[in-house]
Amino acid sequence: MHILIARLLLAAAVLSAVLAAAPRRVLYVTHSAGYRHDSIPTSRQVLEEMARRSEGALEVVSTEDVSLINAETLRGFDVLFFFTSGELALNDTQKADLLDFVRAGKGFGGVHSATDTLYGWPEYAELIGGVFDGHPWAREVSVRVEDPAHPAVAHLPSTFMVADEIYQFRNFYRDKVRVLLSLDTASVDLNAEGVRRTDGDFALAWCRQYGSGRVFYTALGHPEGVWLDPRFQTMLLNAFRWLAGDVPGDAAPRPKP
Ligand SMILES: [Zn+2]
Repeated sequence: MHILIARLLLAAAVLSAVLAAAPRRVLYVTHSAGYRHDSIPTSRQVLEEMARRSEGALEVVSTEDVSLINAETLRGFDVLFFFTSGELALNDTQKADLLDFVRAGKGFGGVHSATDTLYGWPEYAELIGGVFDGHPWAREVSVRVEDPAHPAVAHLPSTFMVADEIYQFRNFYRDKVRVLLSLDTASVDLNAEGVRRTDGDFALAWCRQYGSGRVFYTALGHPEGVWLDPRFQTMLLNAFRWLAGDVPGDAAPRPKP
C-alpha cells in the first residue's frame, strides 16, 4: 500500500516536473495571400533563434500552410501568431476553430500586416482589434509607450524612435483594446497624403482579452531592421509570455491619454 502511494506520488512529481518544463509553443503563420514582405525570412530566423536561446522554454513552428489552422493542430500550441496578408484560404470550420482556440484561453497575436488580411471575415477584425487602412508614413517616427506596466513594452523607454512603415487603422476602438504603443503625431506630417483619421489616434501596439484568451498586436515589423532590433525582439518574447498566460498584464481598455 505504502509503496503504491509512494509510486503514485513519484509519478505525480515526475508529471508536474515534465509539465513545468514543457515549452510554450507558438505557431507562426507567414502566408501572404496579398503583399509579401521581404522581412518574412528574417522574421522567421529571429523567432526561431529566440526559441533556441530560451533553452526549452519556447518553441516556434513557422509555417506558410494555413491548413494547419484547425482544432487538432492548435491543441499542440499555446499561441497562434500571424505575419500574413490578403485573404487566407480558411474554411468556416477553421475560422470557428481559431476563435474557439482563443476563447478557450490561448493566445492569438500578430505583427504588421496581420491586420491587412482576412478582410472578408468581420469576426477576425473584431478579434485582432483593427483593420489596416493605409500607411501614410514610411520613415523614422517617435513612439509613445502608453502602458509601461505591461510586460510586452515594460523594457522600453517612455518614448523612442523607430524607422518603419506606419499603419493607420479603421474599425479600431479604444473601448475594445488596451493600447500599449502609439504614434507621437508631433513626429509626422498629419497632412500627409493618405491620412484619413482626424482624431490623431494612431495606435501601434495593443492587447485585449478575448473570451478566456488574450490577443496582442503590433503594427510595427515592415522592415528587416525592426526585426533585427533587440527592443522589438524583447517585445515579442514578452508578448508571447503574456499570450501564453505566463506573466500578468492588464488588458482592460482605456481611453486615449
Ligand atoms: Zn508593410
